[in-house]
Amino acid sequence: MVTQVQIVEWLQVFASVIEHHKEDLTELDASIGDADHGINMDRGFKKVRSILPSVAGKDISSIFKTVSMTLISSVGGASGPLYGTWFLRASSATAGKQELTAKDMLNLLQSGLEGVIERGKAQLGDKTMVDVLSPAVTAFEQAVNEGMETVAALRVAVGAAEGGLKETIPMLAKKGRASYLGDRSIGHQDPGGTSAYWMLRSLLEVVEG
Ligand code: ADP
Ligand code: MG
Ligand code: MG
Repeated sequence: MVTQVQIVEWLQVFASVIEHHKEDLTELDASIGDADHGINMDRGFKKVRSILPSVAGKDISSIFKTVSMTLISSVGGASGPLYGTWFLRASSATAGKQELTAKDMLNLLQSGLEGVIERGKAQLGDKTMVDVLSPAVTAFEQAVNEGMETVAALRVAVGAAEGGLKETIPMLAKKGRASYLGDRSIGHQDPGGTSAYWMLRSLLEVVEG
């Protein structure tokens, strides 16, 4: 079971990781975008961190809803609405829950991914966060279906996310600002994929304890 307390801790850890790696994300985005991904994410997750005390006793779904609204209102660019949508779908997938089973977590991860795809229309191989989130969901699903517990399944999912992230390097970007570069987008790791990988890795770190 993943508890409500762990979900709050995850958001705190992810906010700290973003803060710590703000320059790295911005540098990645400088290569194939407009050098603001770290700035965008840090602005949004600093705001998220600041509102966490006000949602401390709420259920997981309400927390995700607040995170979503906070990101949509404070993060510009492509990543704000996309992460906002991920958390909005995560909220719908966890209605009324105070803790999450492995199946609940699968539902959450699947719903978040579906939201990002519906919103951004990116397919696998377009060099976006989808290339990280999608293999993670597939791996998590398979692991859960094989009977693995949440922590073990998340470990597998984070491994798949990391693999997906590395695979973005040789890809030619077909969505977002990086797509304006055409062939020059090849050879660089996707910034949004990088933050998405850290989001999943932060969750794993928290549930591993
Ligand atoms: P912007 O590109 O508007 O400056 P950011 O720099 O914050 O926004 O975010 C860029 C990241 O957003 C990309 O690295 C990519 O992972 C993600 N992204 C951009 N467009 C899409 C899309 N249509 N679908 C999914 N992810 C996308
Ligand atoms: Mg950018
Ligand atoms: Mg921008």
